[in-house]
Amino acid sequence: MSKLANKIALVTGGNSGIGLATAKLFKEQGAQVVITARSNETFEKAKQEYGAQFDVVQADVSKIADIERLFAHIKTKYGKFDILFANAGIAGFSPTLEVTPEYFDNQFNTNVKGLYFTVARAIPLLNKGSSVVLTASVVASKGFAGSSVYSATKAAVRNFARSWTAEFPVEDIRFNVLSPGPIQTPIFDKMGLPQEGQDHLGGSTPIKRLGKAEEMAKAALFLASDDSSYVVGAELMADGGFGQI
Ligand code: NAD
Repeated sequence: MSKLANKIALVTGGNSGIGLATAKLFKEQGAQVVITARSNETFEKAKQEYGAQFDVVQADVSKIADIERLFAHIKTKYGKFDILFANAGIAGFSPTLEVTPEYFDNQFNTNVKGLYFTVARAIPLLNKGSSVVLTASVVASKGFAGSSVYSATKAAVRNFARSWTAEFPVEDIRFNVLSPGPIQTPIFDKMGLPQEGQDHLGGSTPIKRLGKAEEMAKAALFLASDDSSYVVGAELMADGGFGQI
């Protein structure tokens, strides 16, 4: 049975990792899916690889003009839409005494401001009964050395879901948060964390392994679909138990 038949979904950062696995699952479940790629280069690559499956749009969420162009495209092509997976984000590791103002701004511009304006500009285009899923992280509520800035960006994301749940009628939009633990995606390579460091991180969770992007996609599908109709303003920890220790 298709859980997302006749739905139109937007997945930001849908060209890689958790976003890509989720875009594929949403499509399998009957949705028409729009994905974003950050740069012109990644857009061209994604268009070639996934253009037949998804509507690929270039948008850097840290740029308000890109966000506005993205939603102008959605409005013209689809009118309104039903599911937003606000997932684009960057990871970051920096001991506090080494954090520069530039690093701090880049983290907040992408993970906080970028996500905020993605959702704010999406809201007028969402159909009644929509679902918005925000990607935070287990570290939004867990201490992790070297992660003070990144963790704070994800704590902000977790909090946005609470405020928006209070602000908008639930019958119009449900907001929920997906908080992954350490998941095997290109994000660790982008941070320069070698495979052995990644495996160590996976091994330090109660489940003793890294998660898979496909496992996050199933959690995102639950939150995006009517299967979670009574789940409102919540955080789904999909973290192999990492947040519990
Ligand atoms: P990934 O690097 O494979 O995917 C991240 C996606 O976000 C990419 O498509 C990237 O281009 C996009 N992106 C980054 N900055 C952007 C910008 N300014 N504009 C538009 N797109 C941008 O990594 P992933 O692991 O799939 O990450 C997805 C989300 O999950 C992120 O928000 C990340 O913080 C979060 N997360 C990941 C993990 C993990 O261990 N992989 C854990 C917790 C949370």
